[in-house]
Amino acid sequence: MFELLKYSLILVWCFLSPPMWAQQYDLLIKGGTVVDPKNNIFEPLDVAILEGKIQEVSSQIDPQTARQVLDARGLLVSPGLIDVHTHVFVGGREGIFAGGFYSVSPDDFSFRTGITTMVDAGTSGWRSFPEFKTKVIDASQTRILAFLNIAGAGMIGKPGEEELSDMEIEATLNIIKQYPQTIVGAKIGHYTGESWEPFDKALDVARQAKKPLFLECHLPQLPLDQLLDKMRPGDIFTHTYGAVDDRLWLLDANGQVLPSVQDAREKGIYFDVGHGGGSFHFKLAQPAVQQNFYPHSMGTDLHRFSMNAGMKNMLNIMSKFLNMGMDLPAVIEAATWNPARMILREDLGHLSIGAEADVALIRVRSGEFGFVDAGGYKLTGDKLLQSELTIKGGKIMWDLNGLAAKPFKN
Ligand SMILES: [Zn+2]
Repeated sequence: MFELLKYSLILVWCFLSPPMWAQQYDLLIKGGTVVDPKNNIFEPLDVAILEGKIQEVSSQIDPQTARQVLDARGLLVSPGLIDVHTHVFVGGREGIFAGGFYSVSPDDFSFRTGITTMVDAGTSGWRSFPEFKTKVIDASQTRILAFLNIAGAGMIGKPGEEELSDMEIEATLNIIKQYPQTIVGAKIGHYTGESWEPFDKALDVARQAKKPLFLECHLPQLPLDQLLDKMRPGDIFTHTYGAVDDRLWLLDANGQVLPSVQDAREKGIYFDVGHGGGSFHFKLAQPAVQQNFYPHSMGTDLHRFSMNAGMKNMLNIMSKFLNMGMDLPAVIEAATWNPARMILREDLGHLSIGAEADVALIRVRSGEFGFVDAGGYKLTGDKLLQSELTIKGGKIMWDLNGLAAKPFKN
């Protein structure tokens, strides 16, 4: 009698339930065009996710095999974007970036623009990193990594940020050793003096930590050639298309990219956009792009003074380069696999089987769009990248048009 009841129940379950035995995936992204530069993929493919990891990337995965299916037709399916230049050590202090109001809250800006990883560009130093870690990094859903400022208190403005006695190699190294998963390198910038000491100390930290140096080129008193000469392969130069104190450093008088900059690139130094509020000019970027001097990464320099200016967000910067002639896979590479390599996190920035399921579904819109630089100049283009849906670790974090939502019926 008991056996009969058991088999009857199984029979009823089989008829009433969807075919659960066939559902081996949590989420299936179906019908999109996968663009995964690390793996040399740019073609229509389906992507299946299980337990927060990429489980299968192939054509025609059966929708019956997944508990949830996203219709990605007409969309790009990219690895989650990585922004290597942000200022997200937000807090209540007025007038400064470190723990202050000049920084912005990461989750407010990340997923809605396809970003799953943000790298803070040295807003904190060894004194303030523990506070940044507790109050922002651990409290955010965005994956946040950080360059550590050689200035102990981080970006607190003049005069504290330029105080040589607060730039301590050992203390900075100790914090980097304490947080090896989160701190990806050392940063120097926002120093207006004539001493080489801050730069040399930051470089020394980077060398000892075996991590890259991130140079914000706010070192106006130091000769560019010497800076580039001291930098090592793998170090990162940001504000590539910017002007510091009206110094249009990237090009010579004839509009050609400076030989020293070309040499630095040959040597293996990376060039980040670092758009920010004042560090991106079409008059530099357009000629540079025409000479194939493309950025390695699309860092935004996100903060309170860039977010509502010409910068807007990383997809807007990517759209600028797309419209200036950079091809689409190269633009995506500069927002995914390149930055992952630059911060020595090769586990990120691609859709390999077993990788963390960070995925950005992006629409390439056609129309007439205006793009604004830091000088107030406009470039018109016919393509605009827009974030439709963002997944981090298999979880949907942003869904512009309700791709994952149930249809409403009254
Ligand atoms: Zn910055």
